[in-house]
Order: sequence, then C-alpha cells, then structure tokens
Amino acid sequence: MPVHPHALSLIGNTPLVRLHGPSEATGCEILAKCEFLNPGGSVKDRAALYIIEDAEARGQLIAGGTIVEGTAGNTGIGLALVGNAKGYRTIIVIPETQSQEKKDTLRALGAELIEVAPTAYSNPAHYVHTSRRIAEETPNALWSNQFDNTANRMAHIRGTAPEIWEQTGGRIDGFTCSCGTGGTLAGVGLGLKEFRDDIVIGLTDPHGASLYEFFAHGELKADGSSVAEGIGQSRITANLESAPIDTQFRISDEEGLAQTFALLRDEGLCVGLSSGINVAGAMALAREMGPGNTIVTILCDSGMRYLSTVFNPAWLAAKGLPAPAWLKR
Ligand code: PMP
Repeated sequence: MPVHPHALSLIGNTPLVRLHGPSEATGCEILAKCEFLNPGGSVKDRAALYIIEDAEARGQLIAGGTIVEGTAGNTGIGLALVGNAKGYRTIIVIPETQSQEKKDTLRALGAELIEVAPTAYSNPAHYVHTSRRIAEETPNALWSNQFDNTANRMAHIRGTAPEIWEQTGGRIDGFTCSCGTGGTLAGVGLGLKEFRDDIVIGLTDPHGASLYEFFAHGELKADGSSVAEGIGQSRITANLESAPIDTQFRISDEEGLAQTFALLRDEGLCVGLSSGINVAGAMALAREMGPGNTIVTILCDSGMRYLSTVFNPAWLAAKGLPAPAWLKR
C-alpha cells in the first residue's frame, strides 16, 4: 500500500524478523513480530484500536465521548493516539511505579493522567477499579476494560494471528509470549489454531506471576517477583479464559535481561524486558520441541521506553540485577 489513508491504518501489519542468536543456539527458526514498530510503540495499539472500534460499533462510544482505562502504560499510549485520531478525550489511571518515560509520554500525547499507589487487585483503590469508577462518574465515557473486554484478544485473533500465518507461509510449529491482560497470547493462540490445531502454544511467565502454576497444575500461585513492566498476571482474565495453552515456561528477570541485552548487542534490536522474556520463552519452547521447528514470539515494545530502568546501570544495581559492560562505561 503506497499511501495509508489514515494514521490508524499504520497499526498492525508489523514485520516478522529472524533472530539469529536464538535460532543458532537452538537449531530452530526463532522469529519475532516487531510490535514496537506500531505508531504508539507497542503491541497494545492493536487492542486499543479494536476496543474503540468495537465500542463504536456497539454504540457504547459516540462523538465527543471519553475513553477511560487503567493501564501499565502501553495501552494508554495506544488509546490516547487512537482517541486523538477519532476525537475522543482520554483519561488514564496508572500505578505510580511505572516508568517515567511512559508517564511523560502519556501526558505529552494529551491523556489526562491519574497516578495511584500500587495495591493488590482485591483492594478497591487498585488502578483497574479506580478507572472503572471514574468511567462510571464521567458522562458519555467508555471504560475500555482491557483485562476483561475480549475485543482485546479479538484484535489478535483477527489481526496478529493471520499476519503470522501469512508471513510464515503456514510454516509455523510453535508460538509463545508472556501475559499482561493475556490478549496477545490467547488471541494469537486461538487465531493460529483456526489455521492448524497442532501449532503448539506456550505460555511464557515471568517469576512472580501466577499463570505458570495455573496452566501446569491448575492452581493460581505466585512464586517471587519480576521487575518487568506490562506482564505478570495473578488471575484468569476474561481474555485468558479458554486460552489454548499446551505448555508453559517460567523465565527469571536475569534470563530475560540477558536476552534483552543480547537482542540489542547482537541483533541491533532495542526492546523492553517483556520482549527479552518472550525470546527466552521462545528458546525454551524450541528446546522442548527440538531442532528444525519454527517458533514465533512477540517483541512487545521499544527499549527506549525504559532508559531510566532496564538500560540504567544504577537502577539495575539497586534491584540486584547485572548490567552489561557497555552500559557501565
Ligand atoms: N509487554 C508489555 C511491555 C506490555 O505493556 C504488555 C501489555 N500490558 C504486554 C507485554 C502484554 O500484552 P497483553 O496485555 O496482550 O497480555
């Protein structure tokens, strides 16, 4: 398409790239979907656009309306951009612990930002519940509800999965990624299984999340903590219900960081920690399935969003995590 008719049509249709280091280390073809190339810089642009257009189609969002969401940042960035393009106001509730880059970006994009202290999901002050209350109190507002609104995973059933199928020419044996809402994993999983039921779908869970234990042993149980932003789920969201998970892996921050830094140093890809965790998960799936398989994963967002955290040696040291030599120069 030589000219896109509208900025919104820049969302999706992201390229798939071969990761040389992980492919050579495992004897598999490890391919990654470059979601950091979406206009808002993350995979969440897809969900933002789909949720808004679904609400418009249902008459839940009309001209002059307001979009309200609780988000770790990337969904808010997507919603703010789509909201601007379509003429909606955006209110974002965010845990104050999210990276300064994401908060500054949201303000710069015109979102009204409400920072709240991080709490357990069971606490009514949790950012998700706060966003629902604000939506209820705001006239003509849509609570986009990315965790339990399945328009989120539909963006991946209808978009990401068919793109992967087409880009690989149907030569795909496995797919894995981590979960925030679970929209990407469940949506790509369900979408790929529509093409071929024997494509193996793997959950990649960071330490500290509960999904690994749930899919391995049927019990939601956390096991530590992770510094990764945007992933790590403690409940079965509506988007995760009936997700076709065949196998699961648990990845530490150290393993995820090693892959994040290797992607930058060896492949020239600057991505965030959830992407590094996904690549470590793809390598685990490759080892489980054996050489000769083609495995796809997701590069969720850009590393530029984490200059004050993952790419900052002082921050890493404060978390007891190793920094690569070039960062300390
Ligand atoms: N990585 C990052 C950086 C994210 O912000 C998110 C979304 N919160 C994800 C991964 C996970 O995506 P999903 O919500 O589709 O599970």
